Amino acid sequence: MRDFGGMIERTPAAVVRPSSARDVAAAVRDVPGIVARGLGHSSAGQSLADAGVIDMRGLASVHEVRDGTVTAGAGITWRELLDATLPHRLTPPVLTDHLDLTVGGTLSAGGIGGASHVHGTQAANVRALEVVTPAGEIVTCSASERAALFDAVRGGMGRHGVITRVTLPLVRAPEYVLSYRARLATAAELIQAQYDLRADHVAGQFKAGGYEIRAVLYEGTSPPAGMRPDEVEEIPYLDFADRMRPDVAELRALGEWERPHPWATLLLPAARAAPFIETTLDAITPADLGTSGVVIVKRFSPGWVPMLRAPSDTVLFGLLRTASPGCRPAGEMSAANQVLHERVAALGGAPYPPR
Ligand SMILES: Cc1cc2nc3c(=O)[nH]c(=O)nc-3n(C[C@H](O)[C@H](O)[C@H](O)COP(=O)(O)OP(=O)(O)OC[C@H]3O[C@@H](n4cnc5c(N)ncnc54)[C@H](O)[C@@H]3O)c2cc1C
Repeated sequence: MRDFGGMIERTPAAVVRPSSARDVAAAVRDVPGIVARGLGHSSAGQSLADAGVIDMRGLASVHEVRDGTVTAGAGITWRELLDATLPHRLTPPVLTDHLDLTVGGTLSAGGIGGASHVHGTQAANVRALEVVTPAGEIVTCSASERAALFDAVRGGMGRHGVITRVTLPLVRAPEYVLSYRARLATAAELIQAQYDLRADHVAGQFKAGGYEIRAVLYEGTSPPAGMRPDEVEEIPYLDFADRMRPDVAELRALGEWERPHPWATLLLPAARAAPFIETTLDAITPADLGTSGVVIVKRFSPGWVPMLRAPSDTVLFGLLRTASPGCRPAGEMSAANQVLHERVAALGGAPYPPR
């Protein structure tokens, strides 16, 4: 069995597909070292173990959408959750860029999205959780009930318990969004603009030798104050939320989706991020990133998720590498990532997902 990183292979002695929290509890008690697996989109083997794997997709039901919240099994994907809430004109406040990740998987990582500058991480937007503890007990927790466990499992990468059920807040979903893009010359401008612009969703990328900012409004008819966009689009909300679908289809068709992905996703203190990003990108060639490599830059505040160890004003700098044919091999990309991780730690930053 592999994960999205494609560099670590494990042969789990058992794969348990639970249909209840009790099944998860039995697996945790009976198989020491067993780990939860959502869709295996983490890339450093975190969802793999020789001892065994709990396939959380067995717990993917929506239990209720009521009073501005949704309660569902933790193995549900953000796509399936959105399918259940949109008929009520409601949406989770923060969605990941890719919707085919499990809710339990991203709450265990942190869950950073284009709306995290407004709402924090997905892990900071949780009303209550049902958790199977490492001792195999089934308990509920929230900010006011077993708060230490609640803080340990959000961003805990499954090490402090398996999340089996989630209750999440919802906000009003817009019907359409207005999306604006503009080119910027430097990382410093991009990071400052992400702070200054009043928009519901803000994201940044490095492409074609320059920076691009995307600011999206859920209401309103003109660009955010201070922005001079090069491109404007009006998009139905669901298409916007599912914007990665065509790219994923193309990457699958090209074979790039199945190749090794030595991703480096780094959480930097915002005040020190721009020089780090510019120096790193100055030294990077297309062969270091791969044919379909992507560079993302997103400023946000994580909210109260202590396990994430993110600075309170964070810039996520993602070098989403693919070891494509003709580019640097995966091992060399991973070694380059290791150097970056050490430099980021010295700056007071942290890796994402947390280690
Ligand atoms: C194409 C792509 C796009 C991505 N986009 C984003 C993004 O926009 N924002 C973002 O924050 N991240 C993003 N990620 C990273 C992703 O969020 C994390 O890797 C996340 O953990 C993946 O969810 P998953 O369901 O695949 O979890 P897995 O990779 O299966 O699991 C991740 C970790 O959580 C543990 N775990 C899984 N389920 C549970 C559970 N129910 N209870 C306790 N522990 C559990 C696992 O043991 C493992 O340690 C992306 C990754 C890919 C490949």
